Amino acid sequence: MKFIETRGNDGHHPEHASFSEAILAPIASFGGLYSPESLPRLDEDFFIDHLGSSYKTLARAVLMKFEIDIPAEIIDQALALYDGFDDPSNPVPVVRVYDDLYVSELYHGPTRAFKDMALQPFGIVLSAIAQSRHENYLILAATSGDTGPAALETFKNKANVKVACMYPVGGTSDVQRLQMVTEDAGNLKVIGVNGDFDDTQNALKHLLASDSFKETLHQKDIRVSAANSVNFGRIIFQIIYHLHSYLELVRQQAISMGERVYLDVPSGNFGNALGGYYAMKMGLPVEKILIASNRNNILTQFIRTGIYNLRSVDLIQTTSPAMDILKSSNIERILFDLFGAQRTKALMRQLDAEKCYQLASTELEQIQAIFAADFCQDEKGKAYIKETFERGYLMDPHTATCFEAYRNCREKPLKTIVYSTAEWTKFSPVIANALTGEEDAHDIDALQSIAHSAGISIPPMISALFEKEIAQKTVIDKEAIEDEILAFL
Ligand SMILES: *Cc1c(COP(=O)(O)O)cnc(C)c1O
Repeated sequence: MKFIETRGNDGHHPEHASFSEAILAPIASFGGLYSPESLPRLDEDFFIDHLGSSYKTLARAVLMKFEIDIPAEIIDQALALYDGFDDPSNPVPVVRVYDDLYVSELYHGPTRAFKDMALQPFGIVLSAIAQSRHENYLILAATSGDTGPAALETFKNKANVKVACMYPVGGTSDVQRLQMVTEDAGNLKVIGVNGDFDDTQNALKHLLASDSFKETLHQKDIRVSAANSVNFGRIIFQIIYHLHSYLELVRQQAISMGERVYLDVPSGNFGNALGGYYAMKMGLPVEKILIASNRNNILTQFIRTGIYNLRSVDLIQTTSPAMDILKSSNIERILFDLFGAQRTKALMRQLDAEKCYQLASTELEQIQAIFAADFCQDEKGKAYIKETFERGYLMDPHTATCFEAYRNCREKPLKTIVYSTAEWTKFSPVIANALTGEEDAHDIDALQSIAHSAGISIPPMISALFEKEIAQKTVIDKEAIEDEILAFL
């Protein structure tokens, strides 16, 4: 399987990259990304054959179809990390909430958010490639709260890899911050940045593109990679759970094999939805992918009008902060897949220069044949949390945004898979507020109050955070990031 560039080739970057090359150096010519040249095709026999497969067996079969240049024993080691999820025999439970709405719970890993689904195995794969090449890597991660903890957790004490992780100060929950600042390992550095997530992400993109920074790293013989969802090494693991969730619906006799479903995805950088898109192209019977957003509804506007408009929009802080994103990186891979490199390059250039682009009407039709979109205000999200809780199901505010898309975007009465991307423990103050009206609770108080009213216990990895020592104390302005990271190295 070869990877090609979303903005064409500049004569310097490899025009075709292997999977490992695309993982190690994810930024392609003209600031583009690597995308698969073609996708393996899964026919109905594949789905029938895997009806009885465990998650790991299905995952191995899908990865084999991609023919990636990773030794089988490394793939097995990577997939073995799913054994550390709550239920090793079923790391991704799919739960019926309404007759036609099933929730696929992607948060049963160590950091209680769906980022573990991809980052846990990705950590093994990247460290193994680095070791086999005798190379050292610096992973730069910008996080709005969930990538950071998951990246730190997966690379902690791994050979040949260091991680510098930046988060927006005040832009994460207590639990998310504690998950990062209590991580104590010599190869990890956590940096609080004064600003919002887009500032943090832009600072990271700036660093990745900076020649002087690269030059210094070159002298120290350290290469840079990224663990953000632009890295295809993450995307590949995000295709699998869409296939698994569908098979779960068949196993639970909610659908018969071949019946179409809606995938309903709470979206930010579009990694999760892109995994669904690839699964659909590979043969998963999907009617449409519903893109759920919060009030930062740039994706809703884009899918409805074909206009991606960053002009005079400000980032709004919402109760689903992992979706507080304006520049959604993986949209580029959709544009590339549908319209080719030349067009993608032109559109992305236009977005940089004019902060806006508009698709032609035929292009928009192609987008709308695959996607529909809606956004959910915080207050409505809280109402959904309360309503579903009263029916016996507890969910987080990101998951709640999907209920608006579920209500408004479906044109057919087909079963819908909502993806739950975080456990209630990560956003407990919002949930406590939704359930009882209590305001501004600290995480620890909200956790206890929800656990009490739901009759459940706080998972041990969450309660332990409040006892741990703070190991990472750096908080700086974005201008100081480069020096801080060089000092760490
Ligand atoms: C990262 C994240 C999202 C957004 O996922 P994308 O793949 O970036 O679209 C949604 N919810 C939660 C809880 C997340 O951590």
